[in-house]
Amino acid sequence: MTNSGRHWYAEEADDWDAIQARQIDALPTLVRRLRDRSGLYAERLADTDPDRVDTLASLQDLPFTTKEDLRMGQSTSVGGERAILGRQQAVETDELEQVISSSGTSGSPVHFGLTRNDRESWTDAIGAFYVTAGVGPGSIAALSTGMPMVAGGIPYADGIRRTGAALVWFGGQTTPRMASTLERLQVNTLIATASFATMFADKVEEVLGVPARDLGVRTVISGGEPGMGLPDVRAGVMEKWGASRVSEVMGLGDVLPGVWAECEAGDGMHFTALRDVLVELVDPATGAQVLWEEGATGELVYTTVRREATPVLRFRSRDHIVVKGMDCICGRGTPRIRCVGRTDDMLIYKAMNVFPTAIREVALAAASGEVHEVIRLRKESAAQVRFDGPIPLEMQTRHAPDRQAQEDLRRRVEGAVREQLRVRVAVEFVPDGTFGLVGDKNSIVYVADRG
Ligand SMILES: [Zn+2]
Repeated sequence: MTNSGRHWYAEEADDWDAIQARQIDALPTLVRRLRDRSGLYAERLADTDPDRVDTLASLQDLPFTTKEDLRMGQSTSVGGERAILGRQQAVETDELEQVISSSGTSGSPVHFGLTRNDRESWTDAIGAFYVTAGVGPGSIAALSTGMPMVAGGIPYADGIRRTGAALVWFGGQTTPRMASTLERLQVNTLIATASFATMFADKVEEVLGVPARDLGVRTVISGGEPGMGLPDVRAGVMEKWGASRVSEVMGLGDVLPGVWAECEAGDGMHFTALRDVLVELVDPATGAQVLWEEGATGELVYTTVRREATPVLRFRSRDHIVVKGMDCICGRGTPRIRCVGRTDDMLIYKAMNVFPTAIREVALAAASGEVHEVIRLRKESAAQVRFDGPIPLEMQTRHAPDRQAQEDLRRRVEGAVREQLRVRVAVEFVPDGTFGLVGDKNSIVYVADRG
């Protein structure tokens, strides 16, 4: 069973090995170009024979690139005015057609360049990404991004138009004005973060006096934060908007703003940047490659196989994912994933490494439906990674259990976490609704799919 009519690239139906093999074919050319033209990679690849980088495994001999490398690289001047983007710029400045900025939420922004070819391939790849997420002819698609210069700005607008949809770029206006635009233009597709989609639904009712679900938005597409991977959050957004489809998406400006998008099956995001990006799954602790297979977990590492202006080799995204499956009823042969957190979020309990998402998974299983899926791990400061005492874990109870029931529940959760992860947590119950999608700066809220 295939729906290949809705596949952007014919090769989306190929199996993953065949798709990756084509990307690997492009590696020798990329490595040669990086070595010869990029200040960031010239030294690192000086002893590398490009023709020997011809298998997925051989990539492991090459160094990773981090966000910090890019930040440092762009602050180093190269050849006077010629390289406005610093050491990672691999073309002459007059070949640049556009500059894009990372959002800079964690530090100063990094700028990326696009040549004419880059811009064309981004537009096409982002088209594939939005088609997978449910955009196309007939879509009246409202984009809520406020700034043109960021990865979710002009590149998203270009990609949405490429699908054949009518773009309504209404971001950057006041919320009441956005609500009126949504109604007047009969928008049927909303592109926004999970928290904005939730907040905006309430605002729409306040401004227009009609519930958001009466407006005709039937598809909601969300990225930029992991919330939409959670069944509860999805159901909430669907209900508020009366939507028949919610698609989670993920991308990053350092690589390509749209690389993963959920198909109509709604069971994890497919890899969509087949022609532009090679993606590895690695063990975040050892850096070793992990095989792409159902149930595998690891950090996503990206290589841009044909980007000209600011290419990256083995860029560590710090996004930690789980593979939901390697095939799908939509006929795509690309892996389906859920993002379960950031590698940066790893905690250390008495010399034991633990992902907050692992705590969450065990705690929720032990609580068997009596608590909300969003939990909170409380830190003393945003920078705290080490815990010598039990890690404070807040859970929102669905009903108000009596004291005895609560005590039993606490014992069950703390016991399960201790037994399965060898980590101690101190559970505190709070009423449902105490905290929403995003925690304050001294806490982290973990959101992940239980599968
Ligand atoms: Zn699918």
